[in-house]
Amino acid sequence: MENKYVSGFVAVIGRPNVGKSTLINHAVGQKIAIISDKPQTTRGKILAIRTDENAQIIFVDTPGIHKPKNKLGELMVKTAENSASQADAILFVVEAGDTIRGNELKIMDYIRESGVPCVLAINKIDKFADKEKLLPQIEAFSKELNFEAVVPVCARSTESVDKVIRELEKLLPEGPQLYPEDMVTDMTEREIAAEIIREKILRMLDKEIPHGTAIEIMQYTEEENLVRVIANIYCEKSTHKGILIGRNGEMLKKIGQSARLDIEKMTGKKTYVELWVKVKDDWRNNNFLMKEFGFTEEKD
Ligand code: GDP
Ligand code: MG
Repeated sequence: MENKYVSGFVAVIGRPNVGKSTLINHAVGQKIAIISDKPQTTRGKILAIRTDENAQIIFVDTPGIHKPKNKLGELMVKTAENSASQADAILFVVEAGDTIRGNELKIMDYIRESGVPCVLAINKIDKFADKEKLLPQIEAFSKELNFEAVVPVCARSTESVDKVIRELEKLLPEGPQLYPEDMVTDMTEREIAAEIIREKILRMLDKEIPHGTAIEIMQYTEEENLVRVIANIYCEKSTHKGILIGRNGEMLKKIGQSARLDIEKMTGKKTYVELWVKVKDDWRNNNFLMKEFGFTEEKD
């Protein structure tokens, strides 16, 4: 019997920091979504595309669903909810050993109402030695929502992530490849470069500063053997500017070097990164500036 080809969108949702972006990067075999141990790392909606012989899955990485504190936060929650209701399947990610926490009850209510089939991934099992203890957790979550499958997983392991993929494929409708098979994301390299710079800031500085930071790429040019990136880093206070630059410019240099290595990995070319730090007050509550930084409201 001939196997049918399936394709569709999978919205990946869950509390911030449970490992959604890590799982997606391993599913597509490339760094697309940035990762840090700070909640709210993912700001917008990111498509990551995995093409196999039998299936094409388009993952929608969403910002974690949390209580919004400002306009940017509100937009992040709306983005997560919108992409969930429009998906062919939902991958709900939680952390091993956790009870139902934060907004998870609400998220499950939302999924139930949407009627979209859902797989539960219990992530970070590498940190959780006693597998027996997963059973009460599985039971607690299954009481709230009828999952199509429950998969314990380590998002950092491709083999482990493949088990999740198999379950998701079962839920997708028959259909053709929706994107070219060599396409892994809808983001341009220029946009990924901005995200990479933001990731370095998230990783190297205390959370107050990165969460008020936006990146604007002023120049992204690719020559035969060289990629040239010039970017502005916007922050909300002049004290933050001082910290971003660091003593003798050391922090900014570290951010630039680390970003350069990632961009070189992505492009396969020698890369030059130049960074500038600027202050823009309270841009997270300013619709005009949010648009300028690329955060746009979705139209239904
Ligand atoms: P997101 O906010 O849900 O997208 O979470 P991220 O993918 O950014 O991951 C949050 C943190 O958890 C990062 O520090 C990851 O390295 C870490 N993490 C993700 N998956 C795993 C896993 O399977 N095991 C362990 N030990 N850590 C993980
Ligand atoms: Mg994320």
